[in-house]
Amino acid sequence: MATATLTLKDLEGAVHPDWCPGCGDFGVLKSLKEAILELGIAPHEVLVVSGIGCSSNLPGFIRAYGVHSLHGRAVPVASGAALANHALHVVAVGGDGDGFGIGMGHFIHAMRRNLNLTYIVMDNEIYGLTTGQASPTTSEGHKTKSTPRGNVEKPVQPLTLALAAGATYVARGFSGEQKHLTRLVSAAIAHKGFSLVDVFSPCVTFNKLNTYPWFKERVYKLEDEPGYDSTDLLSALGRSLEFEPRIPIGLLYNTERPTYEDTEPVLRRGPLVDHPLGLDRATLDEILAETM
Ligand code: SF4
Repeated sequence: MATATLTLKDLEGAVHPDWCPGCGDFGVLKSLKEAILELGIAPHEVLVVSGIGCSSNLPGFIRAYGVHSLHGRAVPVASGAALANHALHVVAVGGDGDGFGIGMGHFIHAMRRNLNLTYIVMDNEIYGLTTGQASPTTSEGHKTKSTPRGNVEKPVQPLTLALAAGATYVARGFSGEQKHLTRLVSAAIAHKGFSLVDVFSPCVTFNKLNTYPWFKERVYKLEDEPGYDSTDLLSALGRSLEFEPRIPIGLLYNTERPTYEDTEPVLRRGPLVDHPLGLDRATLDEILAETM
């Protein structure tokens, strides 16, 4: 089927989403599908990789290649795929607990390498799958199941970290602004290099503080700010630290620099899938027999 004739229905996965009604992750799934359609990419050209968590069930809900990997490991698995096959559009997805907790090391290193992949984080500031414990982005003072007297830890600032680590496309979206989010995701997938879209994606069941109305009252769009220049790293860093009373959404930063694939000597010879294995048929069959 020609990609121009595809519709949202054609991108439905084999499994119906099992998220709670109203979960912000529905908006992210729709935006990802709309972005794929907008860019004219065929399902077989997309790989969606996740870690563990409510949002990490997403690869099952979209028609594309998918890997539901281990907790915090979406980015390294996505990195391997992106290095092996440059023809794929690789999208890592997951939540704030998965990506900014156990996955934090991978997050930083993938950005400083400028690997050519997109990372969409459904950031609900809570652990949803495990029923409401404080996550790395939970606000100070927030009372959760694991912090009944209020969270005493400072939340991580994913956008600030991304800018400092060298990500070349850094944006923040909101599930309550779904069409706006589609534009951010579409540009992130089209971007060459590491693109991060951190999305406020409310957990309607376990986070009664950071709700849709809470975000709606606070978010403003950077594109509506006169003179905001998304190529200016220092301006982006300043905006990335804003949280109260106003929170910026939109494209914070966008730049170009060579990707890891462009500069690593072995990969400059082409994607790994095109490299000869250097094995004779008998050895290859032996390895396959051992591992299959
Ligand atoms: Fe979404 Fe929260 Fe329900 Fe998980 S528990 S599906 S994050 S609303």
